[in-house]
Amino acid sequence: MSVLVVGYGMAGARLAAELHARDRYLPVTAIGAEPHRAYNRILLSGVLAGKLAEPEVTLAEPAGRGVALRLGVTVTAIDRAARTLSTSDGDRIPYEHLVLATGSHAVLPPIDGLAEPLPDRVAVFRTLDDCRRILATADKSASALVLGGGLLGLEAARGLALRGLRVDVVHAVGHLMERQLDPAASAVLVGTLAGLGVTVHLGAATTRVSCDSGGVTAALADGRQLAADLAVVACGTRPETALARTAGLTVERGIVVDDRLRTSDPAIFAIGDCAQHAGVVGGLVAPAWEQARVVADVVTGTASRYRPPAPVTRLKATGIDLAALGASTDHDGELLTFADPSRGTYAKLLVRDNRLAGAIMLGDNPAVGTVIQLFDRGTPVPEDRRALLLGRTGAAAPAADSPALMPDAATVCQCNAVTKRALLAAWRGGARSAPEVVAATRATTGCGSCADAVHGLVEWLSNQEDPA
Ligand SMILES: Cc1cc2nc3c(=O)[nH]c(=O)nc-3n(C[C@H](O)[C@H](O)[C@H](O)COP(=O)(O)OP(=O)(O)OC[C@H]3O[C@@H](n4cnc5c(N)ncnc54)[C@H](O)[C@@H]3O)c2cc1C
Repeated sequence: MSVLVVGYGMAGARLAAELHARDRYLPVTAIGAEPHRAYNRILLSGVLAGKLAEPEVTLAEPAGRGVALRLGVTVTAIDRAARTLSTSDGDRIPYEHLVLATGSHAVLPPIDGLAEPLPDRVAVFRTLDDCRRILATADKSASALVLGGGLLGLEAARGLALRGLRVDVVHAVGHLMERQLDPAASAVLVGTLAGLGVTVHLGAATTRVSCDSGGVTAALADGRQLAADLAVVACGTRPETALARTAGLTVERGIVVDDRLRTSDPAIFAIGDCAQHAGVVGGLVAPAWEQARVVADVVTGTASRYRPPAPVTRLKATGIDLAALGASTDHDGELLTFADPSRGTYAKLLVRDNRLAGAIMLGDNPAVGTVIQLFDRGTPVPEDRRALLLGRTGAAAPAADSPALMPDAATVCQCNAVTKRALLAAWRGGARSAPEVVAATRATTGCGSCADAVHGLVEWLSNQEDPA
């Protein structure tokens, strides 16, 4: 048996590692269009902000026999009848099990002046090469325009502001991160960003982007002109489905897959941002990695079905704490909100059938860990909802971030679905330091926002007389 993986991004690299962990002699070939070894795309925001160096965003890869990598090579066609692939370097490769992990690509909106190849001063933000390109220009710049006020645009804006650039964010919609936030949360966030050197222009449609040796200018529909030294286009992503579509697989917004991640051709699987499961396309790493685990099980003969993890989105920008969970923009249900714009705080809880259906937690709120756990586990919301909303700890809202009080079933690392129970098991299995616990469980290796919780737990365990 052999497995061929197309795409060596976060899903493809994880799949190769999962397969290798199950059978180190299983022949796996991964073909990746990017020339780089596996890296953590999520952490590119940290590289852009100057918080992380490139070597710090590499992903652990399977060592030794089994996994063959062909990097800088694009798969150009699939011949399903012959079960072969064609590659950009002229090769034809047979496959038995084929897994498409082709991810997604940055969308260029239909704006005058925005077409491939982009001018030097204009870049999208998806790959390590995009990041290098932005930084090469940012180093010589005093100001930047970011087109797009979604998660990625704001992370880029905050990163560039941290490097000392004056940043304008231009967003066509009336409020920021409209897929995760409501207008009230956006208003608080706009104020927080202003304090961090980022000016936001909402409801501002860009009609033209022009570039010369002096800089970039965005012309807005209302007649304004915004000028800067560089522009980052962060106007969304689209699943990379061209290969699958040309091969005749069923493609809607993404490549349609079933609970075993099989496409309309049972010999071909799809995982990660390119896949569409139960009508939903990806865009986050937690489902991509869970899908990689399921496919590794299925092709190695273990019964497994994909169940999508609950969506948790966190903005990774220094000075801004923001988590959006589930149906965060809905209103139908028991709705509780609290806003304190002068302190940059906003909280929203949406309760249905006594369970959290969605939440927005912006700013410093000690209850965020509890809220994420309630949402994640679908446990009943405490009677006194105000404690959660206002971040007051107490009987109603146990200090869930405290390792001792965290329930064993609590998910500590959302990206890798690692519970406190799994961390305790690693400890009992002999892992005695944070790096050892991380190596045993993979906790913290996604977006890294659980690092404090994992370190706190290890410290707490170290201080116990009998941690088992
Ligand atoms: C800056 C940034 C920050 C992010 N932050 C978060 C976050 O905080 N939390 C979160 O959950 N998600 C975040 N994401 C999204 C997350 O990175 C993606 O969900 C994840 O990378 C999906 O993995 P993937 O393997 O499906 O796609 P990708 O990581 O994009 O990998 C796909 C790979 O396939 C290759 N490929 C495509 N077509 C071919 C072909 N024909 N032949 C060969 N290779 C091909 C591509 O070149 C690419 O290397 C962020 C993304 C970015 C860009």
